[in-house]
Amino acid sequence: MKKYTAEELTTLADKHLVHNYGYPPGVVFREGKGCRLTDVNGKEYLDFMSCYSALNVGSGHPTIMEAAKNQLARGLTALPRTFLQEEIILFVKELAEFTGMDMVLPMNSGTEGVETAMKIARKWGYTQKGIPEGKAEIIFCANNFHGRSISVISASTIPQYYDHFGPLLPGIVIIPFGDAIDFRRAINKNTAAIIVEPVQAEGGIIVPPDGYMQDLRKICDKEKVLLIADEVQTGFARTGQMFGCDYDNVKPDIYVLGKALGGGFPVSAVVGTKEVMSVMGPGDHGSTFGGNPFACHVARTAMKVIKEEELDKRALQLGAYFRAGLIDIDLKYPGVIKEIRGRGLLIGVEMNEKGPRAKEVCTELMKKGLLTKETRDYVLRFSPALVITEQELNEGLRIIESVFAEIDIDD
Ligand code: PMP
Repeated sequence: MKKYTAEELTTLADKHLVHNYGYPPGVVFREGKGCRLTDVNGKEYLDFMSCYSALNVGSGHPTIMEAAKNQLARGLTALPRTFLQEEIILFVKELAEFTGMDMVLPMNSGTEGVETAMKIARKWGYTQKGIPEGKAEIIFCANNFHGRSISVISASTIPQYYDHFGPLLPGIVIIPFGDAIDFRRAINKNTAAIIVEPVQAEGGIIVPPDGYMQDLRKICDKEKVLLIADEVQTGFARTGQMFGCDYDNVKPDIYVLGKALGGGFPVSAVVGTKEVMSVMGPGDHGSTFGGNPFACHVARTAMKVIKEEELDKRALQLGAYFRAGLIDIDLKYPGVIKEIRGRGLLIGVEMNEKGPRAKEVCTELMKKGLLTKETRDYVLRFSPALVITEQELNEGLRIIESVFAEIDIDD
């Protein structure tokens, strides 16, 4: 087989890969292990984004790889959902136990999970709350990120995400993020649900005030509105608790889960109480690959690893360690950082707007062997795999320091 150079591969990507993402030319990855990625030239990088928190267990976790091989050896990778198979049943049982919920609807991507939750919320609104047909409203927060399908971008407040993709979905109400009073004011008799991220990750790692989810929960209970937590990015230990809602001791009516649930493979699920999830009957919703035996087996293994390796505790401890390191850098190079925020190992560093944009800083970090991506113009995201070691964090901090040392802030 012909071996292509990184430059040749980039040229092929430019020609045949639709440019719905930008990418640094000449950097083409081939292998991953834990928090380290290797490109086709053999250069190693520290991975400080773990595929937008999809790799909480790191790349190539031996237990996950073994489980994947074992399931492939059984030969059953797909089966119509109209038949039962062993893996889906054990998956939904274990995920229900993991979340303390009753029922699970497996899908493939986070976006599909959010879409599915929207359908459930609407059907629940019509059949259980008595909302007149066609009138259901779902409330979302400004600056959210829930995915890229047409219904989900209909709730986006970022013009690039929805411009030229209309007409958009009706029945969506947008409120500011972080103050429950706006939620209460937006509710009317046709409100079926609120869909909210416990921490807005893609929105720039925005942490709401303590008690926000608790306030939403209380209002939802009082007004008969579903609380749907999009924990696609915050779920499975990322924030230092198993779920972002745990910070407020809140159980939503529905969790939307994805990313880390699959241990590096595409698996998502909508998980909720029996009362809500039971509105879905045979034929109401489906997905050819949703809940396939391979996905279910690796997801079961990912949940086991997350629990056994106590990744929630690791995220909490290592998050504090990493933030302390960032604060040291701030002391040495005052003025470069505007704010450090986040929970666990979901950390945002907002840069001084008088300096370079976060995207340019990411390019410099990458040249020195640290991989991450901005969220919003001036925010660097640091969300390494939760299996990262203190030594690897130190290595990353040294790279960050050397890049920040070069930044000029002109006052
Ligand atoms: N919800 C949240 C909170 C997310 O962060 C993302 C992805 N970044 C999604 C939904 C969409 O997930 P996917 O890309 O798997 O469709």
